[in-house]
Amino acid sequence: MTQDKTLPDRLLAEIESRREALIELTQQLIRIPTLNPPGLKYREICTFLAERLGQSGFEIELIRAEGAIADSDEYPRWNIIARHDGANTGECVHFNSHHDVVEVGHGWTRDPFGGELDGGKIYGRGACDMKGGLATSIIAVEAFIAICPDYTGAIEISATADEESGGFGGVAYLAEKGYFNPDRVHHVIIPEPLNKDRICLGHRGVWWAEIETQGRIAHGSMPFLGDCAVRHMGAVLEQMEEHLFPLLASKRTDMPVVPDGAKQSTLNINSIHGGAVEQEPDYTGLPAPCVPDRCRIIIDRRFLIEEDISVVKSEVAQMLEKIKAERPDFEYEIRDLFEVQPTMTAEDAPVVQTVAKAIEAVMDKKPEYVVSPGTYDQKHIDRIGKLKNCIAYGPGILDLAHQPDEWIGVQDMVDSAQVMALALADLLFPH
Ligand SMILES: [Zn+2]
Repeated sequence: MTQDKTLPDRLLAEIESRREALIELTQQLIRIPTLNPPGLKYREICTFLAERLGQSGFEIELIRAEGAIADSDEYPRWNIIARHDGANTGECVHFNSHHDVVEVGHGWTRDPFGGELDGGKIYGRGACDMKGGLATSIIAVEAFIAICPDYTGAIEISATADEESGGFGGVAYLAEKGYFNPDRVHHVIIPEPLNKDRICLGHRGVWWAEIETQGRIAHGSMPFLGDCAVRHMGAVLEQMEEHLFPLLASKRTDMPVVPDGAKQSTLNINSIHGGAVEQEPDYTGLPAPCVPDRCRIIIDRRFLIEEDISVVKSEVAQMLEKIKAERPDFEYEIRDLFEVQPTMTAEDAPVVQTVAKAIEAVMDKKPEYVVSPGTYDQKHIDRIGKLKNCIAYGPGILDLAHQPDEWIGVQDMVDSAQVMALALADLLFPH
């Protein structure tokens, strides 16, 4: 092992010299509108990255998640994994970014797919979440390979589909095919926009379910002849207000979840629907004069690493049973829709400690350890891939994700790229 005290400075300077390239790459990625839904231009962005990384000496695999949720010939779910092997075999560091972006929405004053650079910020849908992070990891890796061509181990960069809709045609598919097997990959960094001086260790759990209350249809002028499912749902909502929400607010976590409000269990009612369903959205006539016989809500329960999902579910089940015991004619059904276990990488895991050291070296401050209120692709890497040494670390301000006029700061990307390059040197080029 050589003693090379100048290596960190040479890496930092190399990144700095690639500032323009980083801006250009970010703009090029933003200009490919990989909207999800429906899953637009996935092949195009993977081909673009294949050319780019192929020129940098990477071996390329383009993988379509055939048969995965939402994969179709019209909107195929394409992923790319690029791998670069060093001079000797050793551990593999993997950077995983999702290439899909959410819908544009209203309120933009910039071209959402223009990649406009203004005042040190690059604007566009996905700038922050997370094409800026993807570009940052590519520049960091290319700079590292240029300075340390004889490193030990391997580096992988993946750009994957559908994170915004659950990751089934992306990381989940690849994890099932063994791409995140701990024999193959040893350290994973997901450059999601968690702020450049924070390390995200994991996320809370999720349980989605649909609750339906059931009544009996009748003429609206004689509601006493029917049984109103919406009123039954009112009883459910009342129980939630009186008992469930206070109970959830009392459950606090030791996970360092940000923002503060998410340091407890939460429940959102994502939607409610009762009454006639089949009318077109632009229907302007009068509603049907009927007593509604069905009312449905979707609940979105976020739970803590200290909670067991069976308890999370039984709290709601018990509440519904209590209502059934007390309220005449109360009938209901509950259906599970989706669940994700909470995950949290240990603070002393190698990738955490290495990135923490690099943040201190670049930004002269200790990193903050955080946990995300919502999930991201780490869930699949942990649960399917059985790979625990995984964090989210990347440039960009979390609050800007999915907003109009989303942007990424150029200096934040440069700082983050420097952190990534130093972390690579620490893991793959002991000096
Ligand atoms: Zn994201």
